[in-house]
Amino acid sequence: MDTIFLIIYGLVIGSFLNVCIYRIPNNEPISYPPSRCTNCGNRIKWYDLIPVLSYVNLKGRCRFCNTKISAVYPLIEIFTAAILVGLYYKYGITFNFFKYAVFICILIVIGIIDLKTTDVYFSTILVGLITGVLFTSYAIFHYGIILNYIFGAVFAAGVIALIIILTKGMGWGDVEICFICGLYLGFKLSIVMLFLTFIIGAIVGGLLIITKRKSRKDYIPFGPFIALASIITIFWGENIMAWYFKSLM
Ligand SMILES: [Zn+2]
Repeated sequence: MDTIFLIIYGLVIGSFLNVCIYRIPNNEPISYPPSRCTNCGNRIKWYDLIPVLSYVNLKGRCRFCNTKISAVYPLIEIFTAAILVGLYYKYGITFNFFKYAVFICILIVIGIIDLKTTDVYFSTILVGLITGVLFTSYAIFHYGIILNYIFGAVFAAGVIALIIILTKGMGWGDVEICFICGLYLGFKLSIVMLFLTFIIGAIVGGLLIITKRKSRKDYIPFGPFIALASIITIFWGENIMAWYFKSLM
């Protein structure tokens, strides 16, 4: 029963994330005006705004002009629902559940916008910072761990800043994203996050160059890799760390 509720919540939240992903780069307010078709401008009826179901019902096309609606929309809704269910099974309804649910929602918005526009928007960073500080303050207040999260933020941002200074390979937006990730993950998990970011970046970057979709000189946004690495870290970071140290012995 809990799972069904979480799936519904997840789909609705995912639908809200879609609005953020679409509107923030266009400098449109999140809450107003109501959703319109991006092609014909017709206002979308409320019964066509039901997550996933409307997309299936309309066969992925606008009711008015028949333009194709991107499959990314329902996929983000399904992904968000899957994340909530996954977090529930890993953490139960605990402090960490809410903390990581908020964190992953922010990561989805930042990651997908970066993927589409290769830009990181300050408003999304600001939301990440404010919520990150709030969750961290709570953790500090209740568990007395002060340095872990501050170290995490400074360390993760510092590593990326160093890479930029040395190689000019990444962007300052990546430093901002990593600062937030460090704040949410703490020091130890930040190491895992950075490690996974570079592995995913190398694999995807390598594939894009081999398949000639990008050349060595093209800019490849790192935000999506950082987001994906952070999500993997939230679910399996501790296991990865345990496995790594065991294989060192
Ligand atoms: Zn239309």
